[in-house]
Amino acid sequence: MSDTPQNPESARWHYHPEGPVGLNPLFNWPPRPSAVLKWYSGAWLQITALTLCLALAVTAYALFFPSLENTQSFAPGWMFRIWLLNMVPQILIAGGLHWWLYMRKGQGMYKKFDRRDLTRDNGTFTFRNQVLDNIWWTLGSAMTVATVYQWIIYWAMANGYVPTVTWSGAPVWFVVWMVFIPMWSGLHFYWVHRLEHHPKLYKYVHAVHHRNVNTGPWSGISNHWYENLLYFTTYFIHLIVPSHPLHVLFHASFQQISPVLSHSGFEKLKAGDTDAARAGDFFHQLHHRYFECNYGTSEIPFDKWFGTYHDGSAEATTRTRAYKKQMYT
Ligand SMILES: [Zn+2]
Ligand SMILES: [Zn+2]
Repeated sequence: MSDTPQNPESARWHYHPEGPVGLNPLFNWPPRPSAVLKWYSGAWLQITALTLCLALAVTAYALFFPSLENTQSFAPGWMFRIWLLNMVPQILIAGGLHWWLYMRKGQGMYKKFDRRDLTRDNGTFTFRNQVLDNIWWTLGSAMTVATVYQWIIYWAMANGYVPTVTWSGAPVWFVVWMVFIPMWSGLHFYWVHRLEHHPKLYKYVHAVHHRNVNTGPWSGISNHWYENLLYFTTYFIHLIVPSHPLHVLFHASFQQISPVLSHSGFEKLKAGDTDAARAGDFFHQLHHRYFECNYGTSEIPFDKWFGTYHDGSAEATTRTRAYKKQMYT
């Protein structure tokens, strides 16, 4: 199931997905329309980070979002509500997955990439505990920065300082922009992340996220303050590109919740005997193990274009280690 004898990399993992780690075929030449269709139907037509985040955004908008008239001036009521809209799903999903996968051990080691459990009693982590460290940097730091940026965007939208759209006014644009948000997010993430791997920024800032060589759901956006200040600038695209609050909610959900799944450490979530949802992302799991590879996401293959793509093979590990050595000497 998990072990491919031809690939010595398999021995380094508990579960090692077979074959090279997939990249979005949209950028392949010559074009491969059926592969592209399969890639996108795999992302949008089953339970994945994308569909979960869209469902969360629609629910948040329909049931809890304060109307834009309320956000014209900074007032505690709506601002508190936006903070809750960030905090509650984060706590429920990261907390729920952590409970199920690591406390209850609901699916045992099924499709768990790393053999190890999360770390306790280790001075690398704040509070000497990986999970408490990750909870602090997520709920304390990341949620605060994300919330403040969203306050600014809703306030600017409500006052007409930035272009906005409505469903009835531009339904096609509404959908197209929604579908492109993950791609924008991936593009922004690659460049910000690349910058953070500059040795100086890495040492003081990004190392907080990389304390997690073996990741769990709470590791997703467990970032230093400065990293969060940079990471969440992705939202400011809504000050330029005509958007609706639902776009911002989806973007926020995608930016905050999908890393919970991608860092969960398990490739699939099992319900009964079947794989019910896609969760962990081996592409990024390799980044946490080997550092100087896979800076982006599999959505836009920047790493392939710039020679830092780790496809999950032992050769790629050897190459990454050599690159890391010359980078830091
Ligand atoms: Zn990194
Ligand atoms: Zn990460």
